Amino acid sequence: MGGYGSGYKWAAKATVESCLILSAARLQSLGILRPDSNATTEITWSNRDGEDIAGGKWEIDVRTARDPSDWHISIIAPGHPWGLHMVHLTTTPLPWRGVRWWFLCPMRYPVGRKWIDETGMTRQVHADCDRRAGKLYLRPGTGVFGCRRCHDLTYRSCQESHKHDKFFAELARDMGVSPRDAKRLWRA
Ligand SMILES: [Zn+2]
Repeated sequence: MGGYGSGYKWAAKATVESCLILSAARLQSLGILRPDSNATTEITWSNRDGEDIAGGKWEIDVRTARDPSDWHISIIAPGHPWGLHMVHLTTTPLPWRGVRWWFLCPMRYPVGRKWIDETGMTRQVHADCDRRAGKLYLRPGTGVFGCRRCHDLTYRSCQESHKHDKFFAELARDMGVSPRDAKRLWRA
């Protein structure tokens, strides 16, 4: 054994190659990601040598049978502290036929100032990234699936990402909308 993922002693330094990658295109080609599906599929991640790199079978639960705004995929990795993730899904039409599937990045960011609520708890508003992503990365040590940009930002500089938050918080205030909507409008 040894190498990537063995014993979950993941290296502190993360590259895209060292992340577990969840690819919408791959799930689509396997027939897991499709419309009108309420199904659970078990998958394992293997490296080139066929060794398990994700600690056993994961359940991929796809729910696309109802309202598109409810479409989501659950990623369940039994026995892992970070083993449950819910990610919203969307599609875009392809020029010939059919659709391409996307994840909406589930990473969350603190937005604006912290405050103390009536019970003495420190509170802060969080906003979802929600960026459309063909691939999500589970970065070693974080236990969080996110788009490449989210993980890069977090990795490169927290300062940078906080600057970003302040920008959206201020934009939201100016526009009279939530920071999440401000992000959406800004990107539209
Ligand atoms: Zn993201």
